[in-house]
Amino acid sequence: MQETQSLEQIQSFTGKYPKQLWYLFFSEMWERFCFYGMRGMLTVFMVSQLMMKDDVANLQYGATQAFVYAFTFIGGLFADKILGFRKSLFWGGILMITGSCILAFDPHQYFFLGLSFSIIGTGFFKPNISTMVGTLYKTNDSRRDAGFSLFYSGINVGALLGGYACITIAKSYSWNLAFGLAAIVMTISLLTFVFTQRSLGPIGLSPLKTDENGNTKKWYEYWVYLGSLLLIPIIMVMVAKTEYTDYFMYTIGPCTLIYIFYEMTKFSKAEQKKLLAALVFIVFSILFWAFFEQSGGSLSLFAAGNLTDTVLGVKLDPNGVNNAANSLFVIIFAPLLGLLWVWMSAKKAEPNTVVKFGLGFLFLALAFYVFYSTRFFANEQGVTSLDIFTLAYFIITFGELCLSPIGLSIMTKLSPKPLQGVMMGMWFLASAYGQYVAGILGAGMSLASDNASLTEKLIAYTDGYKQLAIYALIAGIVMIAISPMVKKLMQEVK
Ligand code: GLN
Repeated sequence: MQETQSLEQIQSFTGKYPKQLWYLFFSEMWERFCFYGMRGMLTVFMVSQLMMKDDVANLQYGATQAFVYAFTFIGGLFADKILGFRKSLFWGGILMITGSCILAFDPHQYFFLGLSFSIIGTGFFKPNISTMVGTLYKTNDSRRDAGFSLFYSGINVGALLGGYACITIAKSYSWNLAFGLAAIVMTISLLTFVFTQRSLGPIGLSPLKTDENGNTKKWYEYWVYLGSLLLIPIIMVMVAKTEYTDYFMYTIGPCTLIYIFYEMTKFSKAEQKKLLAALVFIVFSILFWAFFEQSGGSLSLFAAGNLTDTVLGVKLDPNGVNNAANSLFVIIFAPLLGLLWVWMSAKKAEPNTVVKFGLGFLFLALAFYVFYSTRFFANEQGVTSLDIFTLAYFIITFGELCLSPIGLSIMTKLSPKPLQGVMMGMWFLASAYGQYVAGILGAGMSLASDNASLTEKLIAYTDGYKQLAIYALIAGIVMIAISPMVKKLMQEVK
């Protein structure tokens, strides 16, 4: 049997990656299969099976995803304070499996119940596995970014497989089977974690101290489990009625900011500055995700009606392409971009993290311009080229790569240890706001009328994409302009 290693031994690994990274890689890969598989089915399911109108489905989608990511903040918080990362992952996995099983059993009847389990489960799972990756490295280990980059590829292998497989199975066989597949794959994710967690040594154990009689405050843990179950009916109501989501979103952001500012008072001036820099990244990422996440909402509906079904002559399902193209490009180009950064750094020309974020927005702007330009390739029926659509995903991927894996890594660098889970949660909370705004933007673009022709839909959606391109351009310019200031706040962190 394998010896349990100390933290020092784990972090003193030789070679490029610690072996534990591979275990987390596979566990996250299968979790993302389940997550993106479900995400890619949501709007199409709501419109074609629950007979919702496009704008309602967009709002509902935004609300679901907002809750998913909002709960990552709560999941991060409870991991830091009570459960530790490992138990959080385990609990999150169990809830996700339960949610997918409910959906597999009867997605029409129990749609919101199944979703609510998955929402809370992801909240416990997603931020904490990312934070654990950061803990495999010593503070100044320069191999950390490469580790996150590899981990990010794992995310996208899962997203690619799940994103394509689930929607295709759903459309051609059955929705039950597609949700069932998500359940099976999530079980594989959890088993991978359970059987490899010994290798993590002390990483991710509960932070609760044992008292003088050798007892931990176990009941704190039980309260977290019970509390999260009690939340499920509340989430069900809130997701189903999107105005409740509005109230929730108006409240959670300000509350978490107040909390972070309160926590900041416990740290030194230098650490406070770093946390402020982290907040700047977080705020910009909200905008980024609001545009990017059109992919599960308006772009998904656009793909369902307005696209041809071949890419470079190969016949493919346009929704499958919408769900999977981005991931495929991430897998191919993440390592190449990594090499480019290394090459530029050797020439002392590597852009710093803030400028990379700015570049991310410029790519985003270009990509949305290309989504807009699909209208010039449409036939009289309003059906346009899947090739051009895929080209936009190719461009957007570079935007994502300039921002998302770097964001994960920078959160772990800029946060002091006791706040790492919470700050990772904050990073994903920004995605929650992004998703929420994405739903509103998508609903604004879609035509509520059932009778709208495909051409009218094409014009409405692409007009919206042009607006997004302009705003993304402005955000990119602002980010690059303020980069010297943010760099100062980051001090020695690169
Ligand atoms: N695609 C990435 C993932 O699933 C990032 C998602 C996000 O932060 N919005 O992890």
